[in-house]
Amino acid sequence: MSHNNNLLDLVIIGAAAAGCAAAVYAARRNLKFVMVAKDVGGEVALSGEVENWPGIIHTTGFELAQNFYKHAESYGVTADIGYSVTGIEKVENYFVVKTEDYSKKEKNYHTKTVIIASGIHPRELGIPGEKELRGKGVTYCTVCDGPLYRKKITTTIGAGNAALESALMMSELAEKVYCITKFPNTPETNGGFPKGENILIDKLKQKTNVEIIYHAKTTEITGAEHVTSITYTDHTGIAHTIDTNGVMVHIGNIPNSHFAPIVEKTPIGEIIVDHKCMTSVPGIFAAGDVTTVPYKQIVIAAGQGVTAALSAIEHINKWTEQTSV
Ligand SMILES: Cc1cc2nc3c(=O)[nH]c(=O)nc-3n(C[C@H](O)[C@H](O)[C@H](O)COP(=O)(O)OP(=O)(O)OC[C@H]3O[C@@H](n4cnc5c(N)ncnc54)[C@H](O)[C@@H]3O)c2cc1C
Repeated sequence: MSHNNNLLDLVIIGAAAAGCAAAVYAARRNLKFVMVAKDVGGEVALSGEVENWPGIIHTTGFELAQNFYKHAESYGVTADIGYSVTGIEKVENYFVVKTEDYSKKEKNYHTKTVIIASGIHPRELGIPGEKELRGKGVTYCTVCDGPLYRKKITTTIGAGNAALESALMMSELAEKVYCITKFPNTPETNGGFPKGENILIDKLKQKTNVEIIYHAKTTEITGAEHVTSITYTDHTGIAHTIDTNGVMVHIGNIPNSHFAPIVEKTPIGEIIVDHKCMTSVPGIFAAGDVTTVPYKQIVIAAGQGVTAALSAIEHINKWTEQTSV
């Protein structure tokens, strides 16, 4: 390709911890780049109280996410917010990053390198009533919506730390809290929560307003204008319906990597990266929760964003018109 002036050095996908950290480093090295994202903040903005970002004893995820973005903006970073990436294609020695806005208007970028920092989104139950009642009692973020259920009845579904934290938070707010786990209450399953931290499990089991329903499968959420009940089957196959006002779904996350079949991923869609945040495709880097990084935390995502930016810079420095990406 004879390159025109529109060829960018870098496109960063995502504008939260990993994306903004990468943008700050890219800006300080004078790269010609664009940060493109659906929204500012991603899961960082939904992180509620944050007390483990080094140097700041207490903040909120929302505030931290705004500050990440402001920091990037202070360098005059070009950010196209409100654009979803729909695909990445390799053409000769550069990449085309395809996006569309909310009205499906397309916008493409030509670039030497890409950093994917698009995070994860919550897994859905896939049962009747879930989609229809989303935002009407069904939530995937207890931190965000939990306070709406003060003195009401809520049901948390899940068996990991997110579910435990959700039920614990709700035990302080709601009158009655159910917690449905698909595992039986046995030592082999760590008391029904195989991957849960024991300190959280113990705390939850001591709560007098919490009822844990073990070895159960949620089958339906019901309600007209708003959630009124939930149905589950127990391990013998018998169906039970309980009244509830809120349903907090915490059954894991799905990486936002569907637009990148070009790179190698794990079976659950995490982008496989090495210690320099390189993917299987030279020139495409990935950082943060969307990757195989073992701990999904803000400080780790930001660190990976920086690693990815520095690796991209190395790649750009070696890039020539003849580079085979
Ligand atoms: C309730 C909750 C509480 C948490 N509490 C803490 C905590 O206290 N401390 C801590 O360290 N971590 C916490 N975490 C984890 C933390 O939120 C994540 O580790 C962090 O958000 C990862 O940052 P990221 O930049 O990788 O992804 P995200 O923050 O998810 O950002 C992803 C970015 O990519 C964009 N994007 C996604 N898909 C596309 C697409 N197709 N096209 C364009 N843009 C796209 C999004 O708009 C967003 O800008 C918490 C998470 C949750 C859900």
